[in-house]
Amino acid sequence: MPAAAVILFSGLYISYQVQKERVIEDTLQSNHVFASKLASAANHFLISAMQQLEYSASIISKDINNTELFQAETHRLLQQTDSFNSVVINKLGVLEAASPASLNILNKTVNSPHSKQAFELQHPLVSRPYTSLANNLMVIISYPLFDQTGKYYGYIGGSLYLEQQSILNALLKQHSYDGGAYFYVVADNKTLLYHPEAQRIGEQVLNNPVIERVLQGEDGFTRVLNSQGVSMLAGFSPVKLANWGIVAQRSEAATLATLDTFQGLVLKRMLPIVLITFVLIGVLAHFIAKPLRLLADSANLSTNQKNVAHLKGIKSWYFESQQLKYAMLEGIHVLQSQMGQLRQDALTDPLTGAHNRRGLNRLLKNLMDKQIPFAVLEIDIDFFKRVNDTFGHDTGDEVLKTLTHIIKSLSRKHDIVARTGGEEFLLVLPNENSDSAFVIAERLRNRVATTAIANVGFINISIGIAIWPLHGDNIEQVYKCADNALYKAKETGRNKTIIAEID
Ligand code: GH3
Ligand code: MG
Ligand code: MG
Repeated sequence: MPAAAVILFSGLYISYQVQKERVIEDTLQSNHVFASKLASAANHFLISAMQQLEYSASIISKDINNTELFQAETHRLLQQTDSFNSVVINKLGVLEAASPASLNILNKTVNSPHSKQAFELQHPLVSRPYTSLANNLMVIISYPLFDQTGKYYGYIGGSLYLEQQSILNALLKQHSYDGGAYFYVVADNKTLLYHPEAQRIGEQVLNNPVIERVLQGEDGFTRVLNSQGVSMLAGFSPVKLANWGIVAQRSEAATLATLDTFQGLVLKRMLPIVLITFVLIGVLAHFIAKPLRLLADSANLSTNQKNVAHLKGIKSWYFESQQLKYAMLEGIHVLQSQMGQLRQDALTDPLTGAHNRRGLNRLLKNLMDKQIPFAVLEIDIDFFKRVNDTFGHDTGDEVLKTLTHIIKSLSRKHDIVARTGGEEFLLVLPNENSDSAFVIAERLRNRVATTAIANVGFINISIGIAIWPLHGDNIEQVYKCADNALYKAKETGRNKTIIAEID
């Protein structure tokens, strides 16, 4: 489930990053195209303004002493062309004509950096923004005047007011730009000629890398932090004729806002599908994991019946879990049979299959716990050494097996047959007293004595009998008594049964 979420969200994130890079690249390019178009429009405007001034200059030069002509020409330029906010004729520092008349600057002395430069260079010039005599922030476009002899007279200049309606800002404004984008125009001294926030016009902007680059004549686009520290996607282009720069830009945040909205929409549309998918994955994972979890809970391989039944009851609905379940059941089965075998081995004599002493003691303890009295018959083969010596040890072993068989064949269901030593056996008879036990012992002894054993012939046995609890509460005392009785049987001629005496 977390893996699915990681894949989904990293996919969304990567697609967002790719789109983001594309949108940024597109915005930078379109801002550059826009800045270039504006620069071209501004350049054309300056060329045409200059041509109008050139035309007036040619008329005035022909009649340079006619001051009435000056006034008429400035008036005509202002009225007819609509290119300028005011028109003046500056004769080496003194205003010889000025339109509109309302400016009240006629015959006043001008001492601006532009006029000084114009007199010095004596060629067409576009000024930097400055505040005029009539207190207007403006740029002036000037064209030199010469008399008929070619002597420099001064200039005719048309102004563009930066803080009022002018043909320049009308021209710029008509190129409106949408979606949080805007542009500004900067003069060669980094002063804002045009800016959508009117109060910033005239402000000098230092330390702006875009302005630095565009004023060096560069044409292009870049990502830049503006004066407020906002990341901007800026396209820029120079206006060659006046050494102005135009910068069109849009904030990165505003640019990406639409993308964020789009991404939000995608997420919103996807959410139901994502949720359904997650629920499905969760449900499926639950059902796949369930048998595994249950199998793991039963994985202790405990052989008790409850655990085995629980394991069998687990619904393993797909192949792998089923195989696992079968393997576990098989494991438990093998374990069970091996444990059973081990238990058996621990309690029986491997040669004859009779109980060994440990198995015998267990069963006797059970009888004693239940207070069931029993007779102990201690049986020993007479002269068994001879059998071994005569026929070999292996044949001796066969004799031991045959004897066991005979004893078992005469025993009842609850009687216990045990081999307790080399050729010594114990037969335990529950609920028998010494008399009845004696009868059984004698029957056994006679059966042995009359049974021919292959390769050996006939053997005899001697039997000592003791009774629990008659001969002692303690089983060891009972054994001791049976042992003594057996010893007595051997002492007194063998092939006989003797009941232990009671002290
Ligand atoms: P008796 O009891 O009548 O006094 O004489 P015995 O010859 O039987 O003497 P005893 O009981 O002392 O000897 C037991 C012999 O049983 C000794 C040994 O050779 C033999 N024996 C003990 N365990 C085994 C066995 O597992 N296999 C075989 N083949 N012989 C055994
Ligand atoms: Mg013996
Ligand atoms: Mg013996």
